[in-house]
Amino acid sequence: MFDTIQQQREALPTFEYKQDLIDAIREYSILVIIGETGSGKTTQIPQYILEGLDVKRIGVTQPRSLIISVSSITLVAKRVSEEQNVKLGTTVGYTIRFDDCTNEDTRLKYMTDGVLLREATLDPMLMQYSVVIIDEAHERTLETDVLLGLLKQTHKLRPDLKILIMSATLQVEKFSDFFNGCPLFAIPGRTFPVQTIYVPDAKRITALQSSFVDLAIDTTWHIHTTHHEDDDGEGGILVFLTGQHDIEKACKMLKEKSNSLSTKNNRHRLPHLDIYPLYASLETWNQKAVFASAPRGTRKVVFATNVAQTSVTIPGIRYVVDAGFVKEKSHDTTTGMDALLVTEISQATAIQRAGRAGRTGPGKVYRLYKEESFEAMRVNSIPEIQRSSLLSTVLGLKKRGIIDVLHFPFLDPPDANLVKTALKHLYLLGAIDDVGRLTPLGDQMSGFPLSPFLSRVLVASAVTFGCSYEVVTIASLLAGEMDLFKTPSLRDRSGARLSQEDMDLARVDAEECKLRFAHHSGDHLTYLNVWNTWRRYKKDRSKQRKWCNENYIHGKVLETALRVREQLMQVMEKLELPITHGPRVKNQQKRRHRRKETDKGDGDGDSSNKDSSDKDDEVDAVPILKSFLTGYFSNIANKGTHRHVFSHYSPDKHFLMDGGDSHTSGSLMALHLHPLCSFSDMLDQHKIRYRDLDWVM
Ligand code: ADP
Ligand code: MG
Repeated sequence: MFDTIQQQREALPTFEYKQDLIDAIREYSILVIIGETGSGKTTQIPQYILEGLDVKRIGVTQPRSLIISVSSITLVAKRVSEEQNVKLGTTVGYTIRFDDCTNEDTRLKYMTDGVLLREATLDPMLMQYSVVIIDEAHERTLETDVLLGLLKQTHKLRPDLKILIMSATLQVEKFSDFFNGCPLFAIPGRTFPVQTIYVPDAKRITALQSSFVDLAIDTTWHIHTTHHEDDDGEGGILVFLTGQHDIEKACKMLKEKSNSLSTKNNRHRLPHLDIYPLYASLETWNQKAVFASAPRGTRKVVFATNVAQTSVTIPGIRYVVDAGFVKEKSHDTTTGMDALLVTEISQATAIQRAGRAGRTGPGKVYRLYKEESFEAMRVNSIPEIQRSSLLSTVLGLKKRGIIDVLHFPFLDPPDANLVKTALKHLYLLGAIDDVGRLTPLGDQMSGFPLSPFLSRVLVASAVTFGCSYEVVTIASLLAGEMDLFKTPSLRDRSGARLSQEDMDLARVDAEECKLRFAHHSGDHLTYLNVWNTWRRYKKDRSKQRKWCNENYIHGKVLETALRVREQLMQVMEKLELPITHGPRVKNQQKRRHRRKETDKGDGDGDSSNKDSSDKDDEVDAVPILKSFLTGYFSNIANKGTHRHVFSHYSPDKHFLMDGGDSHTSGSLMALHLHPLCSFSDMLDQHKIRYRDLDWVM
């Protein structure tokens, strides 16, 4: 294999086109570059520009969606800084939503499409860049699509800005047509034929059936035991599943199968299996091992989501198993929410997946569906812009002074109804006025890198309810969209499986821990309780970690929230929004209880804190909840003296309601509505007549 980084670079398909690429970029201001995944577009082409053209700063975007992790950006930036032999964060750096790893000398900056979109909102001329590269444009994320429209306008203002669109070989003419027939530069791929085998599952009816994981395992095992040719007994297997849950399950099943069968069936001398999970929220993954070739006598098996389809290239793959499903964002107009749903893939996706098998030699793809199902699939995936809420997008366009959003140059225009819904919500949030112009409130809201709903919550907490200190904290915990509470692991520290009894105990233990933080008004205040307790250990990181482990809490979520919080505080300051502690309520009962406890001595050691006088007094939940209701008004109903508030903060619960006695006038009652639960069912269940409601949105 290639030993030096330089040799590895020179072995990539883009390398022989280096000079041609540089010449083309010099000549044209807009260029579409297409090439197979793994040919070197993302890592190499920006470096060629750096090495061959006199440019100030190059910005490269990567699609950010819930499916493709932000970690693929840090990974690319890290790799490129190694290739350039510089420290990450100097000449080569990256910026993701809450993490900026660049300095003023950074010449090559990798970032999410969302980050560039925000920059373009603040500076339509994109003055800091000489070159902007929209990478993985075929992913067609919402942000990428909007960026393409904005860049079309920026090009008119700044013809000197170089714009490159990079894409895998999917629907590329569309990009060229969009930019008035700009040239296409194709990098010929080195691909081998891939044989297609259909393995339909008789039981398969819907994506919700777990049977496709079983079938995927059977198929993987079949490949493993029947394909061990002498020359390459170790061809890697890449299995496409939908998400973390399936992937972890599959890894476990295959490991068990391999352990039990290898001992029984020793004489087959099967290669050793190296099994890897690969999905977006994976905190740490064995990056070196996944990118390295498998040693002789071992076979790599990777269970992955779409991440491995076009964003990350795993070398040595000869077999692909395609379950035929993908998890993607879709907008539910009845609940007004975006949700991740398992849906059937498109033909284009199936073809991309198959292509992963033919990179190093002839390969095979096993499709876990019928040939007729393939024929029946839609040809191309639906771009995200046509299946998501457009609130942030429309707000961003308004901020740029684009009043007529319906006529913005979109590659594929979103459904006019989605645009109208977004406009309606923004109007109701007070972000735009009745002629569609951005209001001062909308201007403030667009300053936050958050959904307009959450931005509205922050403004309300600062301006109206005087509790922004607490609300910023809660918002930072929500912004990451990750679960704060851990489910107990199935294994102990040494990796051994827990017994059923131990597992039950762990579950009860976890539940008890959670209850200790639970606040009667719901998740928001519960999160705040967790945060406040965690912060007490801030002086000692190892204590903090220990505390998280003991309480089944994801320390990483809290650490991320800490960074997010810092940034949100900066935004608040910039917007001159006051940061105030919310009012306290005296907690007599707790005080009495505490007094008894403190007699025994307080182990906390944080008594110098100025909050300590308030320690016994709980923060008043009402202003905090009111702030949230101001932002998340869209499912609120108001019924005479006792208000019924419908909201959906906790999609994992059906309804969690509280707020005291709903019959005392003015008390708040929050019902957390499951996205699959209908509004009218909810009314029925609570014996509320629709016509009794004052207003419903
Ligand atoms: P493309 O953008 O055309 O899909 P990339 O530039 O991402 O191609 O990748 C080019 C090659 O570099 C791939 O074969 C991949 O295996 C390798 N590569 C990418 N990232 C890393 C990394 N972090 N470590 C080692 N190799 C990598
Ligand atoms: Mg790429």
